[in-house]
Amino acid sequence: MKSFASQLISWQRTHGRHGLPWQGADAYRVWLSEVMLQQTQVATVIPYYRRFVASFPNIAALAAATEEQVLAHWSGLGYYARGRNLHKAACIIVERFNGEFPRRFEDIVELPGIGRSTAAAICALAYHERRAILDGNVKRVLARYCGIAGWAGEKKVEEKLWQQAEALLPRSDVAIYTQALMDMGATVCTRSRPRCAICPVQAGCIALRTERTAELPAPRPRKAVPEKYATFLLLMHGNDILLERRPGSGIWGGLWCPPQFDDEAAAKDWFMRNGMDAGEGIRLETFAHTFTHFKLHITPLKIQLAHKPLRVAQPGSVWLDVEEAIQAAIPTPVRAILAKIC
Ligand code: SF4
Repeated sequence: MKSFASQLISWQRTHGRHGLPWQGADAYRVWLSEVMLQQTQVATVIPYYRRFVASFPNIAALAAATEEQVLAHWSGLGYYARGRNLHKAACIIVERFNGEFPRRFEDIVELPGIGRSTAAAICALAYHERRAILDGNVKRVLARYCGIAGWAGEKKVEEKLWQQAEALLPRSDVAIYTQALMDMGATVCTRSRPRCAICPVQAGCIALRTERTAELPAPRPRKAVPEKYATFLLLMHGNDILLERRPGSGIWGGLWCPPQFDDEAAAKDWFMRNGMDAGEGIRLETFAHTFTHFKLHITPLKIQLAHKPLRVAQPGSVWLDVEEAIQAAIPTPVRAILAKIC
């Protein structure tokens, strides 16, 4: 029987994904695509990727941009730490590597936002270096193919998966093999209902043989997701809205948002402390936004002002026309609110 790797390599040549805009590109573009693909599917990533490379065609251009410009290009993709880290890493590359993407795995893995698997994927795809990857899709494929039980987030289970990932690596054609693993995980060995009948490695798959494809990989142990509540104060003057820049770290770090409070009373208190008459305001419908670790219930409170209060026009806050604000570096739920009031 042909090896796991050679079966995958043959399969990729005829059935894998070809013509993705970053395939065969330089290390900068491969890095960018890998970071964008960390939490996001290919179809969503492509337009973001194209816009990003049009604005920042190389590492020097990315490093020369402001973090805000970078985040405006990331707006809507979520997990904004990825965009901030990309920008930080570009500045480091300009400073330490003369603007050239580093060549050594050890240097790449030290850059912000790049873990072992992403660094290995860049080395394999851009430099054709023999490196094993282990992203979420690959974990699923290997857990099933090798019959590895347990949740992949557990250290022991992850170690076993890394061992298998290293053991199955081919001697050559590593770039095609790496792409094949990614493609297989995304299109054949899918989370629910894997398409085992057309799988190139079905003959050796332990999960298929033991009828455990639905059990493997084991899901993350369930924990109740904490619920949090917030009031977003939509302070309007004509068609302008007040936005504040959030601190660099934490949820939506560096993005622009309406002032956020724990509840309506706190919002009104702030409003009055800034010399404005609280009035009643219009409460818009509460909706929920789910983060990885908690669920945030957001109630937007819209207040129309007759005059722009000077005291809230501080550094870190800005009045923007609502339509202009929609184009700025804002998180997806804020964009949805602005689209509603537009
Ligand atoms: S046979 Fe099925 S479960 Fe096994 S690797 Fe292929 S698609 Fe995944």
